Amino acid sequence: MAVHVIDFHLHIGLKEHWHSWVHDYQKSSRSEFYKRYEELIVPENLAQYLRDNDIAKAVILPDLCPITTGNVPNEYVMEFCEGQDIFAPFCTVNPSLTTHPELEAKKYIQRGAKGIKLYPSYNHFYPNETRLYPLYHLAQEEQLPVLVHTGSSVFRGSKIKYADPIHLDEVVTDFPDLTVLMAHGGRGIWYDRAYFLSRIHPHLYVEISGLPPKKLLDYFPDMENNIEKFVYGSDWPAVQTISSNINEIKKLPLKEESKKKILYGNAAKILGLQ
Ligand SMILES: [Zn+2]
Repeated sequence: MAVHVIDFHLHIGLKEHWHSWVHDYQKSSRSEFYKRYEELIVPENLAQYLRDNDIAKAVILPDLCPITTGNVPNEYVMEFCEGQDIFAPFCTVNPSLTTHPELEAKKYIQRGAKGIKLYPSYNHFYPNETRLYPLYHLAQEEQLPVLVHTGSSVFRGSKIKYADPIHLDEVVTDFPDLTVLMAHGGRGIWYDRAYFLSRIHPHLYVEISGLPPKKLLDYFPDMENNIEKFVYGSDWPAVQTISSNINEIKKLPLKEESKKKILYGNAAKILGLQ
């Protein structure tokens, strides 16, 4: 029986939104998307492509990261997602580009944003800075998840010190009802830290996009015991196909029930789909 999937981490963008080195990376990862760019960057086509690959819901991310990747505006993502139920658009805030992150986010939440993405290492801020607290307050009140990049990045100009999951300990301690996902699970040097924090904080999750599924049990040997806290994302288009990682996860020596939680159940709860 097919397992329906929620993909918590997809990037879209026009070619002019991204810096040349982002294009180089996408090309080198032999992404199917890159070969079919013009075709797939049309909302109807992307929605159909996702449905064809058994994706039930896809989180679509903007990025306002002029130093590292480029600018995929919130406006663009909101418009792209309009009228396609399969998309869950997130908005993003770059605290260097606005003095009131919460007002910025509120605009897009009113237009249907289902969560907020933050890029600390791309935009050089710590996620526990108090200037972001009004934003967290808003997200907590609206019961919307915040997806925060943690760990390494291949892109030029990103600084990993900002992407240490430990900074999120303070955020979720100060906002105990806020749902936070650690994108990439502290990739590179902080898997154990991300995992530990997800165990002690009830609303803090490990999001596994950008991690090779075959390595998941090396990175998180004990994941079966905390499986409620793992959420699948592809980081598409930085993968070969939208399904390559899903197929690998299905082969892992985990309980069938656990795989369903990673691929669908946990994300469905977070997005309020149940
Ligand atoms: Zn990403």
